[in-house]
Amino acid sequence: MTPLIITIDGPSGTGKSTAARQLAKRLGYLYLDTGAMYRAVGLKALEKKIPLTERGALVKLAARSRITFRVDPGHRLRVLLDGADVTEAIRRPEVSEAASRVATIPALRRALVRQQKGLGARGRVVAEGRDTGTVVFPSAPLKFFLTASAKERARRRLNDLRKMGHPASLSQVLEEVKRRDLRDRHRTASPLRVPKGAVRIDNTGLKSNQVIAIMVDYAQRILHRNRRRGIHGRRAV
Ligand code: C5P
Repeated sequence: MTPLIITIDGPSGTGKSTAARQLAKRLGYLYLDTGAMYRAVGLKALEKKIPLTERGALVKLAARSRITFRVDPGHRLRVLLDGADVTEAIRRPEVSEAASRVATIPALRRALVRQQKGLGARGRVVAEGRDTGTVVFPSAPLKFFLTASAKERARRRLNDLRKMGHPASLSQVLEEVKRRDLRDRHRTASPLRVPKGAVRIDNTGLKSNQVIAIMVDYAQRILHRNRRRGIHGRRAV
């Protein structure tokens, strides 16, 4: 099959990670969780007690961090920061807040975007985040934008947090989700936007397997079209 880059963007709690992970598995592609990279830098800043207002120090920290991904035997993505497995640690609520704050720093974003482009250079990638279709892979031939109501997103986030042993109330989580959304949408550096040409999916009433079925269908149509173009000697996407 012709290699492809697929991007999935949207606000937090829209089911992007589940969709990206499953789609990557179905296609045999790499799953690139760009949010995990901002989280890893946020975690390191907290551990090193660097104030989140110290922009210069945070940029240096990001540039010196080595964030890599590994798929474990159970097909789960593991996130490594300077060689240490931080998969669980980066999901803590205080790290969500730190990630959202470090993600507003333009030079820090540039450092991570460079790494993300490198990881996707050979194609066969499903990238997920807030700017993967607008900034990281603007010429990706297939882009999705996922949405869901704020309440639904807060409910999902609450479930995830409870499963990880971080109890919280729905109103607390709703506040957190809204605060992070506002920051993502209104920051000057790569604000959250619907990428041009993206397929928009509102999954408020959908199950994750329905969303994945829609995405697989789009991906297969593009792959088949590319194959046909290849046969006729025209440029493949
Ligand atoms: O997607 P996730 O919630 O793991 O991302 C953590 C934070 O990283 C988000 O709140 C967002 O502020 C930031 N982020 C970003 N750009 C991306 C991915 C994540 O700004 N491409």
